[in-house]
Amino acid sequence: MPLVTTTEMFTDAYKGGYAIGAFNVNNMEIIQGITEAATEEKAPLILQVSAGARKYAKHVYLMKLIEAAVADTGLPIAVHLDHGDDFEICKSCIDGGFTSVMIDGSKHGFQDNIRLTKQVVDYAHARGVVVEGELGKLAGIEDDVNVSDEDAQFTNPAEVEEFVEKTGVDSLAIAIGTSHGAYKFKPGQKAHLRFDILEKIEERLPKFPIVLHGASSVIPEFVAKVNQYGGKMPDAVGIPEEMLRQAAKSAVCKINIDSDLRLAMTASVREHFALHPDHFDPRQYLTPARAAIKEMVKRKLVNVLGCSGKA
Ligand SMILES: [Zn+2]
Repeated sequence: MPLVTTTEMFTDAYKGGYAIGAFNVNNMEIIQGITEAATEEKAPLILQVSAGARKYAKHVYLMKLIEAAVADTGLPIAVHLDHGDDFEICKSCIDGGFTSVMIDGSKHGFQDNIRLTKQVVDYAHARGVVVEGELGKLAGIEDDVNVSDEDAQFTNPAEVEEFVEKTGVDSLAIAIGTSHGAYKFKPGQKAHLRFDILEKIEERLPKFPIVLHGASSVIPEFVAKVNQYGGKMPDAVGIPEEMLRQAAKSAVCKINIDSDLRLAMTASVREHFALHPDHFDPRQYLTPARAAIKEMVKRKLVNVLGCSGKA
């Protein structure tokens, strides 16, 4: 099966009350860990690439690795640009074989966001590529995106119909309390998602796929493991997996997960060097690191996304 778009994945996910996992990829071990988990769980997949990942690994390397994963697994896989912030990067990814792009115009005013998003949609749709837009701002840090807590604003349900109608986007990322990075809430603060806003959006956009960014749970046992082996991560609070599972049963069809994979990989590498200080062959520590990514992805497919057996 060649690379696919997310159209059919989202239609099925909406009907089936589950969500597709969108996992950020930066290198071969991460791609293999994710796709091995999805193969065992028979789950459809979105592999997403940020501007930072393209800078780190180069577009062509990530594209060829993802093509290798498709050939190796036969899974339905979409390759998606995460947070394109201008037309040029979206065009470059569309021309370079991506099947889906995100144009994140959320830092602009409403009308400018519409104009920019529509420009990308016109270019993408003419080439069979789908587009995710964003309305509302997320707090936190992910590569070049940095919105301070004060500026963070939830999506206004009154704006969603006009945005979708005027831009023609295929899916919409919304802000209802998730945020980028490992530090989603202040210590002592309780994690919460604004399901009331999600419901209002769902009423206004029936059967339309909604996307949640910044949806890692920052699982405490992994933070503890990083720190047990010499790390210095402050206690972090993520979004509880049960809350995300609830979202996946609604209009939310795509859930982005990155920080939990980073944490699992880092915990594994730290543990490995603590237990084997004499090792210096990268395969010795990357083999368990890749296995740690695989376990984390399996956990997400089962506990959060509910998309096992849907490929
Ligand atoms: Zn994001």
